[in-house]
Amino acid sequence: MTATRILLLGPPGAGKGTQAERLVEEFGIPQISTGDMLRTAVAEGTDIGREAKTYMDRGDLVPDSVVIGVAEERLSKADAAEGFILDGFPRTTAQAQALDILLDRIGSKLERCVALVVDEEAVVKRLLKRAEIEGRSDDNEETIRNRMSVYHDSTKPLIEYYSERGLMAEVDGMGSVDDIADRIREALGD
Ligand code: ADP
Repeated sequence: MTATRILLLGPPGAGKGTQAERLVEEFGIPQISTGDMLRTAVAEGTDIGREAKTYMDRGDLVPDSVVIGVAEERLSKADAAEGFILDGFPRTTAQAQALDILLDRIGSKLERCVALVVDEEAVVKRLLKRAEIEGRSDDNEETIRNRMSVYHDSTKPLIEYYSERGLMAEVDGMGSVDDIADRIREALGD
C-alpha cells in the first residue's frame, strides 16, 4: 500500500513544493503548506498575517502557537481525511508533538516522512534565482542564509524524531523533477 498521510521535510529550496504538487495530482489529496497559508494571511491583512509578517521577512520561524493553529484548522477540514501532504509543517519539535496530538484526536496518523537530501549550496543558488523571478519578500541572500541556519537548528532534528518512530525515508533530492518524483513514489510504497 502507498502512504497518503505524508510529511515532506527538507531545507528551504529543496523542492518540497514542486514535489507536493506532483503528489496532489497523482493521489488527489491536498497539499498543506503553512508557508502558502501564512503568505495568504499576510496578503489578506488578517491578524495572523500581521503577526507572521515580521518573522517571515527576516526568515525566522513564525511562533509555534500561531502556526500550530493554522495547521490544525486546515488538517481538520474534510478533504484531509483521506490523506494530505504536509509541506513546511512541522518545523520544530513542539510543532511535531502538536501534530501527533491533533492527528490522534481526529483518528488519523502520519504514515511516512520523506526528507529531501540536497546540496545546500546548490539550493541557496536556486533560491537566489527564484528571488529574481518571483520577488518574494523573504527571498534575499541574508534571509535565505538565515532560513538555512534556522532549518539546521530547529527543523533538522525532526529527521531523528521521525526516524525513531520508524517513519523516515531519506531521498536524494538532487536531479530532475521526474527522477526525484520517482524516488519519492518508491519511498511511499511498502
Ligand atoms: P521556505 O521553505 O522556502 O523557507 P515556506 O513557504 O515553507 O518557504 O516558508 C516561508 C516562511 O513562512 C518561513 O521562513 C517562516 O517564516 C514561515 N513558516 C512557514 N511554515 C512555518 C512553520 N511550520 N513554522 C514556523 N514558521 C513557518
